[in-house]
Amino acid sequence: MFSKPRNAIIASLVFAAVAGYFVIGHYLYKLPVGLDSSAFLAGEALQRLALLVDPGLQHAASGLVLLILSLLIVGAIVFLVVRSAVRARAAAVDPERRGFLTGAGAGAGAALGSIVIAGGIGAARGLLGLGQGGRGWLEISNKINDDQIVKTHPVWQPEWKGARVQSYRRFGRTGWNVSDIVLGTGRIRDEDGEEVARMAIDRGVNYIDTSPDYSAAGSEQAVGRAIKGKRDQLFIATKFCTPIGHLGRGTPVAGYKHAVEESLRRLGTDYVDLCHVHSCDSVGRLMDPNVHEAFDQLKAEGKVRFLGVSSHTPNLVEVANAAIDSGRFDVMMLAYHHGIWAPLAEIISRARSSQDMGIVAMKTLKGGKHQGLADFHDQADSYSQAALKWVLSNPEVSCAVISFFKPQHVDEYLFASGKRPSAGDIGILEEYDRQILGSYCAPHCGVCLDSCPETLPIHDVLRHRMYFEDYGWEKEGMGLYAQLERNAAVCASCSAPCLGTCPTGIPIQERMIGAHRLLTLS
Ligand code: SF4
Ligand code: SF4
Repeated sequence: MFSKPRNAIIASLVFAAVAGYFVIGHYLYKLPVGLDSSAFLAGEALQRLALLVDPGLQHAASGLVLLILSLLIVGAIVFLVVRSAVRARAAAVDPERRGFLTGAGAGAGAALGSIVIAGGIGAARGLLGLGQGGRGWLEISNKINDDQIVKTHPVWQPEWKGARVQSYRRFGRTGWNVSDIVLGTGRIRDEDGEEVARMAIDRGVNYIDTSPDYSAAGSEQAVGRAIKGKRDQLFIATKFCTPIGHLGRGTPVAGYKHAVEESLRRLGTDYVDLCHVHSCDSVGRLMDPNVHEAFDQLKAEGKVRFLGVSSHTPNLVEVANAAIDSGRFDVMMLAYHHGIWAPLAEIISRARSSQDMGIVAMKTLKGGKHQGLADFHDQADSYSQAALKWVLSNPEVSCAVISFFKPQHVDEYLFASGKRPSAGDIGILEEYDRQILGSYCAPHCGVCLDSCPETLPIHDVLRHRMYFEDYGWEKEGMGLYAQLERNAAVCASCSAPCLGTCPTGIPIQERMIGAHRLLTLS
């Protein structure tokens, strides 16, 4: 069939279209989601290959490598098929002529055409949603770019201008006195991020929380530039992590150490004060002997001073108690905000009284939905300050971390420093709770989990939805969702035994189906 050049060309172009749809389109979708290398076919080997080309690479490159390889393979197959058909034809017509150049020329032309077709059809699937109900990346990127999610207060109030840190608190057994409000750097990068960090430091913030996976290492780089000349006055925390994801249980000691040494390089410093076992969801990961061996070696080498754990898992009680009982951890960072889950107060007290641990409150804005709630606009003006004041009214909390990413945040958040919540503030928080009733999933709760026959991580799915919908971290939300072993695709056809199990009244099935639609193109 392929011996005739015309048939070979037609078959090749059809092949290119099919490969474009099923293979190129697939990688084109996976690529912007920001999956780490392990999610791709031979991803880790390909990542190592990409690192040979660019040792400073900060992103997962395996998806891109596969995308390019697939296009090249399509082109190569078409080239060989068409060239051989044209050669055979030339030999049949004139056995004396070798037809070499004719065959190569036709093969190259067909290969180029097939690459264009495969790329075009892949782009139509990935970007325009061809064959996927019209849901492609273009729709998502429009959502991201039209900035419907208001990420900061619409008016930069004059009375906030020049606000400075008003209170420093003892940070447990680290011996530091840290600013009650901590510079969270999850969204900063480049010169703008550096400027925000510099402003916060100049206004008295002396604790900076960063991580390799914040802004794909852009956060550590911006922080590194901002702390130049002031390093010894600052408490810097980072995570056992790489720019493309958390380090899992069983990572070799050298792998943990290398990750921290890379952080030091990006931060331009010889040491960090604190390194967290980040987003820790199990005792196995918390007590991984390799991470403890790596920490001990790094501490002996003067590269890290204190060990911390951050967690927002339904296994929190188990993880936190193991951290406290081990005596290994100096700091605990927990999701803590108004209306918080009751057992948390007990955990914090035990961490303080038995181990003198420093306690960092994170997720202080309880989902940060305040600017997006239609009936909350008047109160939204003061919500972030009321929420910070509430967190800091617990004397056992050492400090509250919040994400600064605009110069306005320095004024807006530091205006709450050292203040106690007023009756008006409490009223605002109560109104916020009324407004978000049935949509905010408490990070450590997990009450509903046993009701799900599919053992879905309901709390994680809803948290990733929150990142997309409320925080404006669309890509991160989709990337994290794509990495879940089980996702909410099954919810649409489930009889929903989860219904009615949520103590805060979340209609779980409806929110899960919505999450799946928001976080995938399927
Ligand atoms: S609807 Fe979804 S979350 Fe609820 S029980 Fe079924 S599979 Fe689990
Ligand atoms: S959905 Fe409700 S019950 Fe389930 S983890 Fe979230 S807050 Fe808890």
